[in-house]
Amino acid sequence: AAKRGRRGYEVWAPDGTPATRDRLQTLEQLRSALDGEELVNHYQPQLDLRTGSVAGVEALVRWDHPDRGLLYPDVFLPLAEQAGLMRRLALRVLERSLRDLHTWRTQGHDLSVAVNLSVSNLQDVALPEQVEMLLDTCSVPASSLVLEITEDVLMADAARSQQVMAGLRRLGVRLSVDDYGTGYSSLSYLRALPVDELKLDRSFVTHLTSDPRAAAIVRSTLQLSRDLGMSMVVEGVEDADALGALCEWGCDVAQGYHISRPMPAERVLGWLNARPL
Ligand code: C2E
Ligand code: CA
Ligand code: CA
Ligand code: CA
Repeated sequence: AAKRGRRGYEVWAPDGTPATRDRLQTLEQLRSALDGEELVNHYQPQLDLRTGSVAGVEALVRWDHPDRGLLYPDVFLPLAEQAGLMRRLALRVLERSLRDLHTWRTQGHDLSVAVNLSVSNLQDVALPEQVEMLLDTCSVPASSLVLEITEDVLMADAARSQQVMAGLRRLGVRLSVDDYGTGYSSLSYLRALPVDELKLDRSFVTHLTSDPRAAAIVRSTLQLSRDLGMSMVVEGVEDADALGALCEWGCDVAQGYHISRPMPAERVLGWLNARPL
C-alpha cells in the first residue's frame, strides 16, 4: 500500500513501516541515528488538576531525519523493535530525559518525567541496574521517574517482566500502566502487579463530553484507581469541556493537546516560565 509520508514521497508497507526496498537503508540510517544526534525527545506536559501546577512531562521520541523531516514513533519503532535496537533506544531516551529533567529541576521546577518502555525493554533483566546508573549520573531522585508500560508488555513473558518491574520498583521508580483499558487482561494483573498509576487510554477521553458511556468508564476507572491506592492520569484531553469534567470528578493528572502539544526540549523551560503561577 502506498501512503504519503511526511514529505509525500515514500512507499510504506501496510503496517506503516517503510516497504522492503527502503527497509535496509532505513535500518542503516536508524542505527547511525542512535549513535548521533538525530533521535530527539519531545516532551508533553502533565497537569496536576488539584493544584493547577505542572506535575511532569512525558518523553516522546522523534527522529529528526535529514531528508524526511520529523518522523513519529509509529513509523520507526516497529523497525527498531524488529532489529533488536530497543534497548539502545530506551537507554538513549532515558538518559536524555533524566539530563533534561535535572536541568529543569535546578531551574526550580519540581517535575517528574515519564518514559515509555517497550515489550523487549521489560524482558531485559539488566534494565534496573542501567536505570539506577543513569539516575545516579544525572542526579535525579528515583521517585521523579515514571516508567510507562502497556498491557501487552505484561503478557509477553509475565515471570520475566514481573522480575524486571520488581527491580525497577526497588529503586523507587514509579510504574504506570499506559493505554489502560485497551488490553486484554486489564483487571487480573491489577491484583498482582506493583503499579502506582493508571493512564487511561485516550480513546475514552476524546468522547468524554459527547458519549455517556465513555464518561461512565472514565469515572469508574477513577474510582477503581482510588480504591487500589493508585493515581490516575488521563491523556488525550483535547478541549476545555473535557478538562472541566475531569477536574470536577477529582481526576489527579491530565495530559493532552488542550494543555500543550509535545514540544522540543529547548522549548520546555519557556513554556513552564510563561505559565501564570
Ligand atoms: P503513547 O505513549 O500513548 O503517547 C501518547 C501519544 O498521543 C503521543 O503520540 C502524543 O503525541 C499523542 N497525544 C498527546 N496528546 C494528545 C491529544 O490530546 N490528542 C491526540 N489525538 N493525541 C495526543 P506519539 O508521540 O506519536 O507517540 C506514539 C506512541 O509511540 C506512544 O503512545 C508510545 O506508545 C510510543 N512511544 C513514543 N516514544 C517512545 C519511546 O521513547 N519508547 C517507546 N518504547 N515507545 C515510545
Ligand atoms: Ca505513554
Ligand atoms: Ca497512552
Ligand atoms: Ca499508545
